[in-house]
Amino acid sequence: MSDTASGATLRFAIVGAGPAGFYTAEALSAQCPGCRIDIIERLPTPYGLVRSGVAPDHQSTKTIEETFEQIARQPNVQLVGNVEVDRDVSLDELRGFYDAIVLASGSPHDAPLDVPGAHLRGVFGASAFVGWYNAHPDHAGLAPDLDHGGAVIIGNGNVAIDVARVLSKPVDALTTSDIAHHALGALETSGIADTYIVGRRGALDAKFTTAELRELGELDDVVAVADPGQIPGAVGDDLPARERRIKAKNLECLQAFAKADPESKARRIHLRFNSMPVAILGRDRVEGIRFERTTLVDGKVVGDGTTYDIPCGLVVSAIGYRAKAIGGLELSASGDRLVNDEGRIDAQLYVVGWLRRGPSGKIGTNRGDGEAIAERIGQEIAPAGKPGFDGLRQLLMARGVKWTGFSDWKTIEAAEKAAARTGAPRQKFASVADMLGLCAPASQAASA
Ligand code: NAP
Repeated sequence: MSDTASGATLRFAIVGAGPAGFYTAEALSAQCPGCRIDIIERLPTPYGLVRSGVAPDHQSTKTIEETFEQIARQPNVQLVGNVEVDRDVSLDELRGFYDAIVLASGSPHDAPLDVPGAHLRGVFGASAFVGWYNAHPDHAGLAPDLDHGGAVIIGNGNVAIDVARVLSKPVDALTTSDIAHHALGALETSGIADTYIVGRRGALDAKFTTAELRELGELDDVVAVADPGQIPGAVGDDLPARERRIKAKNLECLQAFAKADPESKARRIHLRFNSMPVAILGRDRVEGIRFERTTLVDGKVVGDGTTYDIPCGLVVSAIGYRAKAIGGLELSASGDRLVNDEGRIDAQLYVVGWLRRGPSGKIGTNRGDGEAIAERIGQEIAPAGKPGFDGLRQLLMARGVKWTGFSDWKTIEAAEKAAARTGAPRQKFASVADMLGLCAPASQAASA
């Protein structure tokens, strides 16, 4: 490992082993040759939302893990798994060990659905619901009841589409994915024939991307339908050309959905617009949801006072995410990111990814984030003779924290691959204890 001109090594900690964390590690390695990087991750598994957010039937998206593995295998990069900041080590302690810390831990919480009845059984946030079908250990025990006729997904983003697709797809199409075993079992006996995706704005204001919308029209045994009265004939020409092109492509899909025969297939995904949730209905569990019809006034959603109900046994609220105030740091007013100045929080602390900019963009969007912050760190941070992992290791050992490394992850991964259903890439562990049972965590090895 070559050192800097001053003879000291730059030591960085990145908190969060998702796309933003890995892209930052890659960029820091290039920007600061000779630096040491520890990627601290609270789970024994890396890859963040690529593992636990990307839909299981979108396996091709997950091939990005190969790129992240290459980054993890760089000699100056180390994964420190099963270590949670605020639980096992404080941010202040990390400040003592590292020259700079980059926070890349995303926005893990669901935005609150602020309507009466949101506490009822059968109402879930998308982060929890997606985590459930993706075997995230935090949500593996969700056990949603799918033994009823209908589900409503609130929100008009790609997460809403993912959830509707996974709920509606024939189970045969999911067995060759890495969907959680418990979710596959629940979906096998699901009675859900009608899933509604409901947005509070108009059809052309939805945040869906065209590829995701188009896919809804191409599913086996599922028809996507829309109310012709809610789908405009054309995109307004008052928009910038690029936006008009994107909306026109979405409109093409929606117009096809408006012509589709709801009875042509066994299951339906209904797209409804200009409707905001005002109450979840039911006694102790959800039995329906009440929407108020809306119009847009100066870009703002305004109810028109008229309502309608959709009977359902499941509500998934896919209305965005909120950040966690790691280390007691200040959240933005919207609560979906940390207060920061172009990724800088203070002289030693930086932030990237959703935690910097809010929950937006694709996986690749985080590459630019990582590069920008690495360039900034390269200009602003000088080595101060910090101990880096030597300091962290001593602290973790003193606290009895069993951290895991990348080789432990590969052991877990090998066991998941070995347990996979025929044709499936893996069968994910949904319990941290089960994962740890497979590896000899580094702290044990170090103290042996
Ligand atoms: P999103 O795209 O921001 O969509 C959130 C939706 O929730 C919007 O329709 C928003 O409506 C609505 N909403 C917010 N608050 C609401 C409320 N109180 N009541 C009713 N509706 C409300 O967020 P997302 O779907 O969670 O996606 C997050 C990011 O991940 C996005 O960048 C997305 O593209 C990306 N992603 C990509 C893929 C993919 O590429 N396949 C898959 C999943 C996620 P307003 O517009 O009115 O605010």
